[in-house]
Amino acid sequence: MDEHPVRPEFEDDDVYENRLRPQRLEDFLGQEQIKDNLRVFITAAKERGECLDHLFLSGPPGLGKTTLANIMAREMETDLRVTSAPALEKPKDLAGILTTLQDGTIFFIDEIHRLKSSLEEMLYVAMEDYEIDWVIGQGPAARTLRVPLPQFTLVGATTRPGMVAAPLFTRFGIPLRLDFYRHEELEAIIRRSATILEVPIDEAAVGVLADSCRGTPRVANRLLRRMRDFAQVLGDGPITSAVVSDGMKRLNIDKNGLEEQDRQILRTIVEMYGGGPVGAETLAISVGEEIDSLEVFYEPFLIQQGLIQRTARGRVATRRAYEIIGLPVPENGQVGTTPPNGTPGNGATREDQRFLF
Ligand code: ADP
Repeated sequence: MDEHPVRPEFEDDDVYENRLRPQRLEDFLGQEQIKDNLRVFITAAKERGECLDHLFLSGPPGLGKTTLANIMAREMETDLRVTSAPALEKPKDLAGILTTLQDGTIFFIDEIHRLKSSLEEMLYVAMEDYEIDWVIGQGPAARTLRVPLPQFTLVGATTRPGMVAAPLFTRFGIPLRLDFYRHEELEAIIRRSATILEVPIDEAAVGVLADSCRGTPRVANRLLRRMRDFAQVLGDGPITSAVVSDGMKRLNIDKNGLEEQDRQILRTIVEMYGGGPVGAETLAISVGEEIDSLEVFYEPFLIQQGLIQRTARGRVATRRAYEIIGLPVPENGQVGTTPPNGTPGNGATREDQRFLF
């Protein structure tokens, strides 16, 4: 797959990710309500000498789910085990990890919506009773062994909360939903990252970058690194607003943070499907995207920006989408409405609502 300037799942440089990753709760900028709650839960668990309750983290990619799992382990002063559901093929893969956890270990499973149903059963019992049933032998000689587990904390993360089975979801004591970051929060993240990377950046440039990063810290950090390249090779070193505006043009990102593929999605809904509604699968094929990246990466931001709406019959372009792609709004055509008073929705679908506090 080609290098992609901003799309989080194509992060090519884990070294930078780790260098910029906040280590303590106080360095995790923004998401104040979530942090406040976590602080209470951590303090309470530590005071009681217990491990933290199981934690469910949902939200678009790059908003800090993995980072929070790391921070939890540090704040609880325990170790961290990390895996991803697609890597767990067979019951023995999961059992192999569960039986080697320590008391209090934070066990992080990314993309938990992709956990095989044969493994979910094992996880239910492990989460609730801290034991697993293990079958040894085959046929009539087979017998079930009850294996006790240490008291651990499961942190399950997903970009698709609606796809997590209800019995699994209800076993998490702390459900948290991460939302896109606000402008000032992104500015603070960009300043912090620039300090770590030791690159001077002026305030105007910080502001433009914060506007252009899709409300997503990982994208902010990635754009910052690209701007550092432009500043070093084409400028004098510091990242100025001139460097950023030239850099954004080179990366084809507009002042709203929309990239070419976002605009293509809007143009397709408007020009090919008369403004919608158009089903997600049809739309994905029309723009040459995987349905997953359309739904997980592009759509949440376009919805949050009030540019498209998800309806029961498909995706609909809003009035603002027509304006952005420079086409007249049809007089009697189907046009979705951007929520009033300039506060776009948070992109949550109805099925996501149960995850909101
Ligand atoms: P996710 O697991 O949700 O895809 P990550 O936790 O990997 O996202 O975060 C991506 C990067 O964004 C991290 O490397 C970190 O540097 C940065 N980041 C995420 N959230 C924050 C935050 N609240 N404050 C500062 N940096 C953050």
